[in-house]
Amino acid sequence: MDLTFTPEEQAFRAEVQRFLANEVPARLTGKVRAGQHLTKADVEEWHALLNARGWLANHWPTEYGGPGWNAVQKFIFEHDCALAYAPRTLPFGLNMLGPVLIKYGNEAQKRYWLPRILSGADWWCQGYSEPGAGSDLASVKTTAVRQGDHYVVNGQKTWTTLGQHANMMFALVRTDREAKAQEGISFLLVDMNAPGVEVRPIITLDGEHEVNEVFLTDVKVPVENLVGAENKGWTCAKYLLTYERTNIAGVGFSVEIDLENMKTTNLRVIAAVAGGGVPGAESSMLKIRGTEIRQELNSLIRRAMGPYALPFVDEALDEGYEGEPVGPAEARFAAVQYFNNRKLSIFGGSNEIQKNIISKMILGL
Ligand SMILES: Cc1cc2nc3c(=O)[nH]c(=O)nc-3n(C[C@H](O)[C@H](O)[C@H](O)COP(=O)(O)OP(=O)(O)OC[C@H]3O[C@@H](n4cnc5c(N)ncnc54)[C@H](O)[C@@H]3O)c2cc1C
Repeated sequence: MDLTFTPEEQAFRAEVQRFLANEVPARLTGKVRAGQHLTKADVEEWHALLNARGWLANHWPTEYGGPGWNAVQKFIFEHDCALAYAPRTLPFGLNMLGPVLIKYGNEAQKRYWLPRILSGADWWCQGYSEPGAGSDLASVKTTAVRQGDHYVVNGQKTWTTLGQHANMMFALVRTDREAKAQEGISFLLVDMNAPGVEVRPIITLDGEHEVNEVFLTDVKVPVENLVGAENKGWTCAKYLLTYERTNIAGVGFSVEIDLENMKTTNLRVIAAVAGGGVPGAESSMLKIRGTEIRQELNSLIRRAMGPYALPFVDEALDEGYEGEPVGPAEARFAAVQYFNNRKLSIFGGSNEIQKNIISKMILGL
């Protein structure tokens, strides 16, 4: 990619590149390069390295621990991380809950939860989807009934990514069953270790345990864990999804084909956010194109590997795998990656749903 930067931007880029070359353990970049599974400890190590540098929450305002980067600096950072095979950060706390707390949380919530996202004290998961509420998210049925100083939560969440590692979940719950669908929803922070929370694994097409079902039975959640006003959680929910979709596009982590146009849209979105705006319906455009490109790349790699991509050896992506090599290193993850990334056009709101949003919000249809 041909990039032209000002002298200040070049100096910043050199600093980022020095950090990536000298401070990121080769073990981590080696795993990313080989497409191996990152463990919980790997993710925590990467977050801690970035946090020590003040670069972890690079899109947060400085008063909450962000580095004060402009849109170009964020772009440079993401771009060079991808080139250096640095891991991706985990989005649930940083990219999803963080912006919601900063915009809708009260002071006590910001003071308590934001530093814990930075320090890694909490591992967050997302409790939006339910068996009957995916694309039609506003039909969530999990209920939260207020009893004195806490809510009692009952229901089931599903597809909860990495919920098996999480100690906290931000969840959409129904607090008013009489109101119109979107108006009776609240945004709650649920302790995954509270009595009544049960996490059951879902094994996906690629043999992985990445997602879960979460059953909630009479779970007590303190009222101070309500973010925003009761029954106004839909506003938080939508705001969070725009960040989620922009992140799923993974622009810096793909390659050049079709990306020049994507790059411009991505810069428009981050510039709008830097200027105090929020990523609006453009996040849906980014999500569709970004995920299509990533899936096309997976398909291209799989085809280029030919017969080498046929063996489906999921364990080959675990650290320390000593089985028979099945062809060039890249072939090891061609098949697994191909299956795993089928998810990209589904989660964060399926691409069909993004098209509905674009037709309404941008085309006015
Ligand atoms: C790997 C993975 C990880 C996930 N992680 C999480 C997570 O951590 N937390 C969380 O809360 N959720 C998560 N999800 C859930 C994800 O957001 C939903 O799967 C997604 O929103 C689709 O909902 P659904 O699965 O209920 O499908 P449905 O809503 O049942 O959709 C089925 C099909 O119908 C299409 N469709 C539905 N409605 C329309 C419409 N109005 N117009 C056009 N087409 C339509 C969809 O595009 C889709 O192709 C994850 C999903 C996956 C696959």
